[in-house]
Amino acid sequence: MLKDALNGKYKLGAVQLVERNGWYYFIVPIKKEVSVEKRDTVVGVDIGLRYLAVITVLHRDGKITDVEFLKYRKLLDKIRYLWRRIDYLKSLLPEGQRSSKQIRRLWRKTRRINDWIAHNVSKRIVEVAKENNAMIALEDLRWSRPKRGRRRKDMNRRLANWVHGRIAKYTLYKANWEGIYVKFVNARDTSKRCHVCGAVGYRKSVIFSCREHSYTSNADFNASVNIGIRAMFPSVWGIVNMPAPSGCKTPCVSEG
Ligand SMILES: [Zn+2]
Repeated sequence: MLKDALNGKYKLGAVQLVERNGWYYFIVPIKKEVSVEKRDTVVGVDIGLRYLAVITVLHRDGKITDVEFLKYRKLLDKIRYLWRRIDYLKSLLPEGQRSSKQIRRLWRKTRRINDWIAHNVSKRIVEVAKENNAMIALEDLRWSRPKRGRRRKDMNRRLANWVHGRIAKYTLYKANWEGIYVKFVNARDTSKRCHVCGAVGYRKSVIFSCREHSYTSNADFNASVNIGIRAMFPSVWGIVNMPAPSGCKTPCVSEG
């Protein structure tokens, strides 16, 4: 990248020297000019804890051409385990003390895992968007839907927000570098509505069911398509209700 910058492909910013833990680092900002355009294809992303991310490629004519499920269950379990361990260690601390060397070490470990997940998930999201010349639709965390939790509800919500925030940040960063437009959408009801007809359905565990047209699908997949639709047509529910593209009288539905 530095070589490309020196050859004039990118612009170099002002170099900074910083000190961190006794080490000295040079920070070299590299700037790339990109034009970010809206596209006719969208990569809808649903981020949850069962599948860390469900990635769907949706076209303006209503066709779904790719679906991917990314799972990181073991790593999430590892973070949960480390958090419980941190809580336990905290309970042993003498009064007035809030942290210890061991606790800080465990925190660093969980951060590394979260970073690794976010790096890999965001990398795949941006790759899929690039392959399909698409924009990206992500759930806006400020509108984050209430998660139905049972036991350890708070820990799961905290974990979901933490992981989601990192993925969103990395995705935005990587997408910007590639000139890919990222839209953050209000995800309200995106897991309640049928992505095909737009009717309110119901969700039981991993299955979403629509009574309106007797249809069932994976619930996270359904939500990811709804997030994609919302990015392209903010007031439309369901693929069949999407405005028909020119040259096509009725929107084409594919049940991927
Ligand atoms: Zn339906």
